Amino acid sequence: MQRVILLNPGPVTLSKRVRQALLGNDMCHREIEFSIIIRDIISRLNRVYPEAKAEFETVLLTGSGTCAVEAMLSSLIPVKGKALIVSNGVYGERMAAMLAAHRKSFIQIKSDWLSPIDLNNVERRLSSDSHISHVVSVHHETTSGRLNDIPALGQLCKAYDKPLLLDAVSSFGGEYIDWHNWSLGAVAGTANKCLHGVPGMAFVLINKSRLREGCSHANTLYLDLFNYYQQQQSGFSPFTQAVQVAFSLQEALRELEESGGWQARQAEYQRLSMHIRQTLKNVGVQQLLSDDSYASMLSSFYLPPGMAFNTLYDLMRQQGFVIYAGQGKLSDTIFRIANMGDIRADDLKNLLETLTQIFGRDHG
Ligand SMILES: *Cc1c(COP(=O)(O)O)cnc(C)c1O
Repeated sequence: MQRVILLNPGPVTLSKRVRQALLGNDMCHREIEFSIIIRDIISRLNRVYPEAKAEFETVLLTGSGTCAVEAMLSSLIPVKGKALIVSNGVYGERMAAMLAAHRKSFIQIKSDWLSPIDLNNVERRLSSDSHISHVVSVHHETTSGRLNDIPALGQLCKAYDKPLLLDAVSSFGGEYIDWHNWSLGAVAGTANKCLHGVPGMAFVLINKSRLREGCSHANTLYLDLFNYYQQQQSGFSPFTQAVQVAFSLQEALRELEESGGWQARQAEYQRLSMHIRQTLKNVGVQQLLSDDSYASMLSSFYLPPGMAFNTLYDLMRQQGFVIYAGQGKLSDTIFRIANMGDIRADDLKNLLETLTQIFGRDHG
């Protein structure tokens, strides 16, 4: 069977040990032995960024990244609160859709998908609207591949004393997060992107000061983070967890630690994405963003004139690579290549050769 390499932004290509871990014993989620695994996962998630440990608690959920993001917004933003959503892509705009569905009040400072977040406008809003209770944004906006300027946004949040709720679903475990200076109220992440686990579990790191307030603002029963937090103290959860997904998340976290943690992973991602971008540059394929705007785990490119995404997709798929289309209004004009997961030296070599062959043929 041909090895399939997932170059979409999650789920990722699994390592052998993470896949193998799925085949653990049958286990009831209310058994002590499972609670031991859950507590181990939580303590490992707590030390992916060791400096977060003093101020944040990790709450583990069953669901995809969107589940963690929605639980975060639902549980932490009061009905009487008002969120300032700072968006420049699909995932920021999805958070606005969540708050609309929750019937919570928000305003959105929405930038074009190819532009940075609009910090001037954020400052103007923060200084003029005292009703704003929370700021909400996306760390790595996967729509374009941009690593948003959260250091600057976080500083504004700190200056105006607003908690920042951050979607770090596609960056947790692969990018730097400043747990002390970004005014972080909570950060949402997932098992199946930079952590290299299988899809099905996600988590939120909540600032302990928010937990001490003790009251949940969740307007859903299932996504109440405070309920999960209370029950997971003893290693349990209000509802059935994805047991096998937990086995493989535990293994993925062991693997991350053994391979040098998030810093080593980021360095490896940067090495891979540099090769990918350089190879495509050499054959004249244009990037969406400048090199210094990208996060380390994804690059985005314009389709050359006359080449449809599906044609490119098929050519890549024949060689065992799954690439990703643009979303929404970018779906006909761009393609994306993520570089998370178990991508080995051979895979990279094949990938670069395949790209050179496909694009060199028509445009070299
Ligand atoms: C992948 C992703 C999500 C979650 O998507 P799911 O399909 O629920 O896994 C949320 N935010 C960002 C920035 C993402 O890249």
